[in-house]
Amino acid sequence: MVVRLHNTMTRSIDEFEPIDRGKVGLYTCGPTVYQYAHIGNLRTYVFEDVLKRVLEEAGFEVRHVMNVTDVGHLVSDADTGDDKMEKSAAKQGKTIREIADFYWEAFRKDMRLLNVREPDVWCKATDHIAEQIELIRRLEERGFTYRLDDGLYFDTLKLKDYGKLARLDRDGLLAGARIEMVEGKKSPTDFALWKFSPKDKQRLMEWESPWGTGFPGWHLECSAMSLRYLGERFDIHCGGVDHIAIHHTNEIAQVEAAYGHDWVRWWMHGEFLVLPAKGEEGETTKMAKSGENFVTISSVIDRGIDPLAYRLFCLNAHYRAPLTFTWESLGGCANALGRLRNRVGELRKKGAGSPSEKHRSDFLEACADDLNMPRALAVFWGVLREEALSVADRYATLLAMDRVLGLGVESMEEEKASLDAEAEDLVRRRDEARKRRDFAEADRLRDELLARGYVLEDTPGGTRARRKEREIDCG
Ligand code: AMP
Ligand code: ZN
Repeated sequence: MVVRLHNTMTRSIDEFEPIDRGKVGLYTCGPTVYQYAHIGNLRTYVFEDVLKRVLEEAGFEVRHVMNVTDVGHLVSDADTGDDKMEKSAAKQGKTIREIADFYWEAFRKDMRLLNVREPDVWCKATDHIAEQIELIRRLEERGFTYRLDDGLYFDTLKLKDYGKLARLDRDGLLAGARIEMVEGKKSPTDFALWKFSPKDKQRLMEWESPWGTGFPGWHLECSAMSLRYLGERFDIHCGGVDHIAIHHTNEIAQVEAAYGHDWVRWWMHGEFLVLPAKGEEGETTKMAKSGENFVTISSVIDRGIDPLAYRLFCLNAHYRAPLTFTWESLGGCANALGRLRNRVGELRKKGAGSPSEKHRSDFLEACADDLNMPRALAVFWGVLREEALSVADRYATLLAMDRVLGLGVESMEEEKASLDAEAEDLVRRRDEARKRRDFAEADRLRDELLARGYVLEDTPGGTRARRKEREIDCG
């Protein structure tokens, strides 16, 4: 099966071929663990999960590495401002480790709720300081660094093709730069490799280095850790589109300057989840952690919506197109998912069948066409109604497609008739947990109910569970 993927570097859709036959090295930029992820962030992780599943379906063995940023990501992209982790720790009166562990765990839970599979390697920036220092040392040896009062900087003017991913017009940038500048930077595009701790104050996290006590610049960790876990060259690097101009551009600069050769073959970027424009003249806005309409998976669950409805919502759009979020459209997907559950429940009763090759190949062809998931989903919905296939074969076909879609068709199969009594028991235990203010246990029980196909509604008379089987379709 030939997989064709868009490459941001070439701006074209090309036949994917890995460096090593049959194997794919995949690096995806991970979360900065100072706050809950919003569903916009999660759209990017759903896209990457689908990419990985499609590659596996095409027969590749994927080695997936994802970082956890727990130091160095500053509030501003211009190498100024607070460290997001230190700021969050100070605000919440916790240690950095407590903050990092808490939000990383919350992130992994969001991933589980969305059927986003974990990477093969998780790597934390603070566990790889030595690798980051080593990379700076190489850059220093090759003459790509200079020192200012507040840190050691990368000299972007020294790298001939700096900015090639974003196709930055460097002359234009230099002439008209309005970017907030650290004093002394030779070029507005230069960025910090190592920041020094302030002279008058101790940071919560700092390390010794050949250049002085301090901490690594944010772009460094992804370069250093992907070198360690995927080698000097690898196949695919992903992230959201906001990473093209700065973060990924600087990752490339660091590695290609240090090693003197091309680095990643395929750059893939997911478009934003956006909020609807206000008024006719208005523009859509990106969902952002600092924005007012910040939606998390918990707030989706609190509205009685299954998180997998959000996965379906993401699959309804191409990953390179912006996707506008509204509760109404998410509700439509919740309905579609409910209907799917009921239909699958009926189909699976008819015993074992085998997948229809024709439908499977139409489905995979859409997936392999730069992850055209809207088209793949249309094939999937078509199978539900396909009279030419036996009921058992329809079920087997849906199950095969779900290896890519990740909507949980297999666990829909496992729903038991006795669930109603079990659900009642879970609701009762959740009410008790809430009464004794054990909210962690109450949340856990809520998730368990959800996993069994129930939604919860808090009513004046107490919590009620209801099966997710609303009648409207958005499929
Ligand atoms: P962060 O935790 O802020 O480093 O972001 C994690 C990932 O989410 C990155 O790959 C970002 O590019 C991506 N991202 C941030 N905002 C959005 C959004 N509104 N829609 C889609 N992806 C986003
Ligand atoms: Zn990164």
